[in-house]
Amino acid sequence: MEWETVIGLEIHAQLATKSKIFSGAPTAYGAEPNTQACAVDLGLPGVLPVLNEQVVLMAIKFGLAIDAEIPERSIFARKNYFYPDLPKGYQISQFELPIVSRGNLEIQLEDGTTKTVGVTRAHLEEDAGKSMHEGFGDQTGIDLNRAGTPLLEIVSEPDMRNAKEAVAYMKKIHSIVRYLEICDGNMQEGSFRCDANVSMRPKGQEEFGTRTELKNINSFRFVEQAINIEIERQIDILEDGGKITQETRLFDPDKNETRSMRSKEEANDYRYFPDPDLLPVQIEAELIEKIRSELPELPNAKKQRFIDQFKLSDYDSGVLTAQKEIADYFETCVSTAEGEAKLSANWIAGELSASLNKESKDITESPVSAEMLGGMIKRIKDDTISGKIAKQVFEAMWNGEGDADSIIESKGLKQVTDTGAIEILVDDVITNSPDQVAQYQAAPEEKQGKLIGYFVGQIMKQSQGKANPKQVNELLKEKLKS
Ligand code: ADP
Ligand code: MG
Repeated sequence: MEWETVIGLEIHAQLATKSKIFSGAPTAYGAEPNTQACAVDLGLPGVLPVLNEQVVLMAIKFGLAIDAEIPERSIFARKNYFYPDLPKGYQISQFELPIVSRGNLEIQLEDGTTKTVGVTRAHLEEDAGKSMHEGFGDQTGIDLNRAGTPLLEIVSEPDMRNAKEAVAYMKKIHSIVRYLEICDGNMQEGSFRCDANVSMRPKGQEEFGTRTELKNINSFRFVEQAINIEIERQIDILEDGGKITQETRLFDPDKNETRSMRSKEEANDYRYFPDPDLLPVQIEAELIEKIRSELPELPNAKKQRFIDQFKLSDYDSGVLTAQKEIADYFETCVSTAEGEAKLSANWIAGELSASLNKESKDITESPVSAEMLGGMIKRIKDDTISGKIAKQVFEAMWNGEGDADSIIESKGLKQVTDTGAIEILVDDVITNSPDQVAQYQAAPEEKQGKLIGYFVGQIMKQSQGKANPKQVNELLKEKLKS
């Protein structure tokens, strides 16, 4: 039997406000436990929530970025459940009438094609506190700093058909919320996390199978891993003639398995009802138009502009525009490098990315600034240095030894383009390698191209990589003829 996977994601993006969604307490990450929860966050009797205007503006921005409808009216609801990190006994969320309704998103698949994924809705809600099980002996600690932190929950249609598509979708949302500057996207700190709903159905069947929900996944790699092992688990059960239980499961990356947490609750278990403490949110068309006019250039538009303006490939352009900071870095680099786009793209996606990855640094923390890299590329372009020597220059810049020009100067890396000097090197190697010369001259023309590499290599060694490779090749060809 052939199976088809069906996946829908619920992404929680923490909105980048200074204060909480319904109180004035700060949202900064990493404070001492319970120093950032005020009476409202603690749910003390007699307090009233007041909606933070910023979260509404941010949610509208997101909705417009995914071509969603922004209903004129939305309301907050109480989602009732008991848990020690939820002192009020309910979470303020949205149920009926969310702030953002149906939208769409285009994702890029590995084979180069694109696919549209539906976004069912996005709603505002408050985060709960955190239970801490380590360091308290037999007891559990409760940290309520996170209680009341604003979240935008983005719910997708069950439109994804494999783990790779789910990752592409999650990355796209991540990219958009960061472009919009409504979420810092920091996954280690939990500012961007997702629940993945997974089910299987026999290929060709219309009706969806029973799903499980994999909770709180906070990395792109884990989403892919978690979904793939859940697919295997479900197929095993189904092929043994079993049935999938609808439940919430936890992904354990250390053991590479998913474990049952609890059976799935239904909406009516939560006794949702409109929160009587909060007024409905009424959004005027004018406000929506104002926000629309202020939207920044978004990843897709930027990607297309890079293709048109810089003549980059679809692939390069996609890599460079996935993160706004990388796109900005690229544009600064190109303008310093006097328009040299392709080399800039190669260096950013190649050497720079590799160095950043190695030290787990974000591009904003790069020791080589965009101006510095552009300055170096300018020197490749005007033949001051070769691409090979540029690697040395880059490394020196990375290690804080200065900008390209001063490194080229102090290390004497300037390319030798003096024909006389190169000729001496060429003559030398020809005199010293009679066997290779004889072999070269006896070889048919199509083999000579390969054999010439030996001479080039020798000369590069002699000149410590500084001889201009193009000149070396030309001179060699000429001299080896006779
Ligand atoms: P709940 O309110 O219980 O979380 P929803 O109907 O809101 O359930 O769906 C939550 C997520 O699960 C959505 O992203 C949706 O696309 C996805 N989903 C729903 N049914 C399935 C299914 N059979 N297989 C996979 N994903 C599903
Ligand atoms: Mg849900």
